[in-house]
Amino acid sequence: MAEEKKTAEPTKTETKPEGKPRNCAFCNKVLKRRSWYYRNGKYYCKKKCWQEEQKKLKKA
Ligand SMILES: [Zn+2]
Repeated sequence: MAEEKKTAEPTKTETKPEGKPRNCAFCNKVLKRRSWYYRNGKYYCKKKCWQEEQKKLKKA
């Protein structure tokens, strides 16, 4: 029996319209409850991520 390589990975896209933040807008880290930082309609895992995003936006 020849072994077949399984290259097809199932891509799970769990995007439920909950209205709750799931990932940091900067580093994409999964946000834990009430530990995130909200600014300008975006969610970040911490304040530093927001600050880094602002730096990026200013440069761009
Ligand atoms: Zn982050």
